[in-house]
Amino acid sequence: MTRCKTCKKEVAISAKTCPHCGQKKPGVSKESEKTILIMCIIIAGFVTLIRSCGSETTLREKQIQQHFNAWDGSHNELTKLIKFALYNKESYEHIKTRYWDDGGFLIVETTYSAKNDFGERFKKRVKAKVDLNGNVIAILEEE
Ligand SMILES: [Zn+2]
Repeated sequence: MTRCKTCKKEVAISAKTCPHCGQKKPGVSKESEKTILIMCIIIAGFVTLIRSCGSETTLREKQIQQHFNAWDGSHNELTKLIKFALYNKESYEHIKTRYWDDGGFLIVETTYSAKNDFGERFKKRVKAKVDLNGNVIAILEEE
């Protein structure tokens, strides 16, 4: 039991109207109604915030993904750059590519094999720093 917020007589908490004065939701004070309203606004705000974060991530991932080959996962610009430096461009074979998103830039690591000027096949790993527009900024490692 609780007291009606209007006439102060005892009513059930769950009562929809006060049997004494007819007040709607007599057991719910204005304060608790306000609290519930504020809670709803905060929750709605959080949901909107989380949703917008989610879509930003998707957008960013899409921006990143468009610079990678959908079939083998190689980075388009980095592959061009590697091939450009090769003696035998036709012998180029992509093995695998991994990348790390470090916030502002991506670190892309590509392993490939190709033939050298003696016709011998070699394997090499190249690590490069690329920006989100797909440009290769720097070659960090080659081995
Ligand atoms: Zn009442």
